Amino acid sequence: MDLGLRGKVTLVTASSRGIGKGIARVMLQEGARVMLFARNADELKAAASELSRETGGDVAYVQGDLTNRDDVMRLIDETRKVMGSIDILIYNTGPPKPGLFSDLTFEDWDYAVKLLLLSAVWLTKGVVGDMVKRGWGRLIYVTSLTLRQPISNLVLSNTIRLSLAGLVKSLAGEYGPRGITANGVMQGFIMTDRTRALAEDESRRRGVPVETVLRDMARDIPVGRYGNPEEVGYLVAFLASDKASYINGSMILIDGGLVRCLP
Ligand code: NAD
Repeated sequence: MDLGLRGKVTLVTASSRGIGKGIARVMLQEGARVMLFARNADELKAAASELSRETGGDVAYVQGDLTNRDDVMRLIDETRKVMGSIDILIYNTGPPKPGLFSDLTFEDWDYAVKLLLLSAVWLTKGVVGDMVKRGWGRLIYVTSLTLRQPISNLVLSNTIRLSLAGLVKSLAGEYGPRGITANGVMQGFIMTDRTRALAEDESRRRGVPVETVLRDMARDIPVGRYGNPEEVGYLVAFLASDKASYINGSMILIDGGLVRCLP
């Protein structure tokens, strides 16, 4: 199936590694032109050259911090300058600090609201005007299964990310009539540096080896394994395509069957 993504200018945030990089890889394989964004310039440079070598695609990067509004606006300006106006926004973030409610400070909450919510607002404001002018656009928000099933030591994620479901529904209603769809992805356990860090945190709490925690986490997943970043990328690429033009305002789970509740 040709997804028709060739040449589409695509912004993928938090994409120097992990899920964001996996999504960028799939979009490049589909012929999209991809702008990467993350905090670490060396990591970005390495990711961009690896992805370009591997896919032969058009990939560039901007270094910056999602919690800094000036950085986010600079990212949008740079992308317009280098690649043209943005067709597809794929919003992914850095992971919030893990912890129980009692572990978290007011500063942790302030930072996480910028990281997990306000950055989505800034980015959307920055890209949606061009999409309206063109009469076509895709807004895709990569969130977490915590929207459906809270995880005990991820209180920031459990609480703040829920707003993204409200944002997606609101945008779908407002911009759907103008050729722009807005959808969200709720991924389960995907094997990345973040997963390993969470497993280490849990292993310290329980006093058991990391391998035991990883094995225990996978045991609850009906397909019997972690997902990989590219599997999230395939879903996102489909949502970004014209083939998905009737999917609007949806929050889609991709978790190997881990969440047991009905929609
Ligand atoms: P990761 O740590 O492997 O990669 C995170 C990326 O975000 C990196 O490129 C990093 O440079 C970038 N980043 C971090 N903070 C940033 C900031 N302030 N500004 C700009 N870029 C920043 O993480 P991952 O596993 O790929 O997770 C990506 C997102 O998905 C996170 O929000 C995570 O909480 C969420 N998530 C992950 C899983 C999983 O199993 N991996 C499951 C559910 C949700």
